[in-house]
Amino acid sequence: MATRLPKTDIVIVGAGWTGLTAAYELANAGQRCVVLERGAMRHDAPDFQAPQMHDELRYGQRHELMIEPSNLTLTFRNNQDETALPMRRLGSFLPGTGVGGAGVHWNGQLWRPLPSDLTMRTHYEEKYGGDAIPDDLQVQDWGVTYDELEPHLDFFEKVAGCAGRAGNLNDEIREAGNPFEGPRSEEYPTPPMKQHYAGAMFADAAREVGTHPFIMPSANVTVHYENPYGAQLHPCTYCGFCERFGCGYFAKADPIICVLDRIWGHENFELRTHANVTRVNLADDGQTATGVTYVASDGRTYEQPADMVLLCAYGLWNVHLMLLSGIGEPYDPSTGEGVVGRNYAYQTMSSISVFYDGRYNFNPFMGAGALATVVDDYNGDNFDHSELDFVGGGYIACLQTNGRPIGYHPTPEGTPGWGLAWKRAVRRNYLSTANLVIHGSSMATRGNYLDLDPTYTDPYGRPLLRMTFDFPDNDRRMSRHVTDRAEEIARAMGGSSYSVSRSADDNYSIVPYQTTHNTGGAVMGSDPSTSAVNRYCQAWGQHNVFVFGACLFPQNLGYNPTGPLMGLAYWTLDRIKRDYLNDPRPLMGR
Ligand SMILES: Cc1cc2nc3c(=O)[nH]c(=O)nc-3n(C[C@H](O)[C@H](O)[C@H](O)COP(=O)(O)OP(=O)(O)OC[C@H]3O[C@@H](n4cnc5c(N)ncnc54)[C@H](O)[C@@H]3O)c2cc1C
Ligand code: SF4
Repeated sequence: MATRLPKTDIVIVGAGWTGLTAAYELANAGQRCVVLERGAMRHDAPDFQAPQMHDELRYGQRHELMIEPSNLTLTFRNNQDETALPMRRLGSFLPGTGVGGAGVHWNGQLWRPLPSDLTMRTHYEEKYGGDAIPDDLQVQDWGVTYDELEPHLDFFEKVAGCAGRAGNLNDEIREAGNPFEGPRSEEYPTPPMKQHYAGAMFADAAREVGTHPFIMPSANVTVHYENPYGAQLHPCTYCGFCERFGCGYFAKADPIICVLDRIWGHENFELRTHANVTRVNLADDGQTATGVTYVASDGRTYEQPADMVLLCAYGLWNVHLMLLSGIGEPYDPSTGEGVVGRNYAYQTMSSISVFYDGRYNFNPFMGAGALATVVDDYNGDNFDHSELDFVGGGYIACLQTNGRPIGYHPTPEGTPGWGLAWKRAVRRNYLSTANLVIHGSSMATRGNYLDLDPTYTDPYGRPLLRMTFDFPDNDRRMSRHVTDRAEEIARAMGGSSYSVSRSADDNYSIVPYQTTHNTGGAVMGSDPSTSAVNRYCQAWGQHNVFVFGACLFPQNLGYNPTGPLMGLAYWTLDRIKRDYLNDPRPLMGR
């Protein structure tokens, strides 16, 4: 029997970027907000301080900041003919847990969507004709335009102190920025990161093949900076312990220092940790949510009544909660009907290592999560698709994130995997290898989706989330094309040799790390038959439930998701504050 707690205005599930930001904005708008976080409390100081944080085995390899699959996991299969099995170890993606969520151990590569990304179906059909999008893809428009999102994308960049140089400032194309980006209303709040040596060589080669290099936009901040909430950030030291680690230098924007510190102690704000939300409770008629049920660290079950429920639990777990709670109709791939779980997508990655056989010293141990020189010429619809048999694209980046001793041993093809020859090859190549990443889009198909597993349950007896996913043929063709373009740059970089790894050539595997960019499952849109939430990210069937995160993306972009999903978060919060709170109701008709 659950203990019923006093009612609050708003209950927020999850204390990552989306949840803490929602709490900040709505507590300051006069709403009593209770944030429920299943993980522990933690803070950049003292928890992320060096030297303890620079323990690669503990954090980089054993994933101490992330979920523990023995008590929280999902099941996986490549297609509907297979039986899904539980993910027993972390691999392909690394979801976060604990205060700050995955925003603690992210890289900080901070992008915006292209204007055409957000109206993808309309854009391709208008430009290339009605059959431009392959039939097996469930590509759709987002229901929101770039111009509508721009102020919110801009505001998040200010909250995160994003470092970069505008390539398109109010429609003026500028040197040294990304010439393909949508128009920005303002310059980045902080100057771009330094260019690393390999990045400079990449830039020369990229120009030689006719592309347009620039420094990647980054939430690894480059100067002393105060964000709009009053948080202080300091310059990145290029310490190389960024992705998978918390930042001990207050240099990587995370939701703890950028947001939580500024709302801590506010009379309308309460954060409860070790509070695992097991379901959203609905009124008898199912038309509204009445609050949530959660299990606390004492093992007892509590009911937290609220006027509004915000799902900020990370895309996958938002979808899980919606399926468990009866919010929206579950997607059925055999009929194509239903919306929750629909359009799950991922990211299409490949990589190239360029070996210089000891000729250069790139000091790979100096790095940062978003230290990269990049070209965007082959992303989205930045290049002509009229003669191509795919939609989408990706960026090509020369990254220097780390050269940590356990994880980084670049060796040319043909090198034995162990022994003296391997050691010699590592010694020769450790300092003088440049690394390129091709970070590609992922289109939704009818057969890739999320639902509840019929066999496996979690410690509370609830069905696990089941993921059915493989790379669509469209994405394999796209990835081959963009990786071939990256090879042209790699060849122009003049190494002794290079090796290419194309993960999308094989079936998707949940074992090697790729990205934690799981998207879709609760997609936004203007049509209730193809979207789980409306264009304000409000559940179609329960107007007091709003959903945040990358589960909203109808298909995945060629970019990392946090910039776009935080733009959407501010878009939703703006609508809630300006409109919904005064007159709670469905913001769009069905
Ligand atoms: C290694 C790594 C590198 C990344 N690098 C980048 C990058 O460079 N650029 C980029 O754009 N993105 C990057 N990302 C992705 C980025 O971290 C996410 O997009 C972002 O953190 C999503 O924020 P969120 O608030 O939606 O979810 P999260 O940050 O995951 O926060 C959700 C929170 O909800 C809590 N929660 C979940 N379920 C429940 C429940 N039932 N009850 C209570 N609490 C719950 C979780 O414990 C978690 O704290 C990276 C991710 C990883 C893991
Ligand atoms: S590389 Fe920079 S931003 Fe990343 S953890 Fe180190 S100091 Fe922080």
